[in-house]
Amino acid sequence: MINSEKFDYLIVGAGFAGSTLAERLANGLNKKVLVVEKRDHIGGNCFDRYNADGILVKPYGPHIFHTKIKEVWDYLNRFTAFNRYLHRVIANVKGKEYYFPINLNTMEKLTGRTFTPETMRAYFEEKRVRDVEIKNSRDVVVSQVGEEIYELFVKHFTKKQWGIYPEELDASVLQRIPVRYDRDTRYFDDPWQGIPVDGYHKLFENMLSSPNIHLLLRTDYKEIMDDVEFDRLIYTGPIDYYFDYAYGKLPYRSIRFQFETLAMERFQSAAVVNYTLDKEYTRITEFKHFYFQEHPATAVCYEYPCDEGEPYYPIPREANRGIYEKYKAAADKLKNTYFVGRLAEYKYLNMDQAVKHALELFKRL
Ligand SMILES: Cc1cc2nc3c(=O)[nH]c(=O)nc-3n(C[C@H](O)[C@H](O)[C@H](O)COP(=O)(O)OP(=O)(O)OC[C@H]3O[C@@H](n4cnc5c(N)ncnc54)[C@H](O)[C@@H]3O)c2cc1C
Repeated sequence: MINSEKFDYLIVGAGFAGSTLAERLANGLNKKVLVVEKRDHIGGNCFDRYNADGILVKPYGPHIFHTKIKEVWDYLNRFTAFNRYLHRVIANVKGKEYYFPINLNTMEKLTGRTFTPETMRAYFEEKRVRDVEIKNSRDVVVSQVGEEIYELFVKHFTKKQWGIYPEELDASVLQRIPVRYDRDTRYFDDPWQGIPVDGYHKLFENMLSSPNIHLLLRTDYKEIMDDVEFDRLIYTGPIDYYFDYAYGKLPYRSIRFQFETLAMERFQSAAVVNYTLDKEYTRITEFKHFYFQEHPATAVCYEYPCDEGEPYYPIPREANRGIYEKYKAAADKLKNTYFVGRLAEYKYLNMDQAVKHALELFKRL
């Protein structure tokens, strides 16, 4: 019975932020922790599970772990080993496949010319739009690589992803179009990357295995908050929900995921193929690439970005930042209550950043 116990910490959310803090407080400081999670599973958006056909899939889309932060890498390696998966993304443009980020191979296939790093730089120098005052994401891209690359790889893909064209998006969203002046086909150049060998779910199980941690699934924290005794609250849910939307709802972009199992061993040449020009979906993910799973069938997932649904991507606009700042000011005034993670900070965080923020908060506590 949780309501007869007293907890040192109540943690809302069992994603990377909540699980890292629960683990550190329970194992590092011997604190009694109650983790409340409204979904029926741990792991937040990084959760994975076997589908009905026995293929390991990710219900909230692909997650590739990659980091430059040694502290985070060492920390997570206490709970899992990572496999040697290296992320490569293919862009499907008018039915032809190109490596993305754009590299020497991409440019050669696109133009039929041969490039060296120097001639590729000269090519973009010639193509880029000069003397443009950077006001939005379109300006950012055309000032670096010119109109053609913008049109083929960025304009329509961004419209699908965000629902608006790059000229309506803050310059900060596409700060830099990733271009490589070599033949490195990896998507990330971080020194540490991979996928947990036994999947993400197992990683979270290991993080939350302390007898000091009590886990309550399928429960919104507001349902139990008044019935539980605790000293401090760590909140990793949406910050606007915490304050009952007092300053308005913070907008998010969501995604509808459509899953299929196909009777073939392999469907596509990379784990993720982006459709930059046509199709309603932004990308197709084939999960077996991540896990090196052997299975006679394969599972794929189509992503359709949309406005309604689970909150995935905070929409980076000046007005939204203004709303968030009001919530942040209210949060800073609270005693013994801490906000951390992508929903509580209203900020896109990679997994390693979510863990890093949680470890930083732990140090402060
Ligand atoms: C489509 C997509 C792809 C991504 N791909 C990558 C990638 O390849 N690499 C990478 O590094 N990062 C990736 N990310 C980012 C990654 O998902 C986040 O860094 C990570 O999930 C952040 O962890 P978190 O704990 O802050 O949030 P979450 O994982 O969202 O955890 C928050 C938890 O709080 C729970 N919660 C919310 N409200 C309540 C409530 N009222 N009561 C109880 N529980 C509640 C939620 O159910 C959730 O489980 C991706 C994100 C998305 C959306």
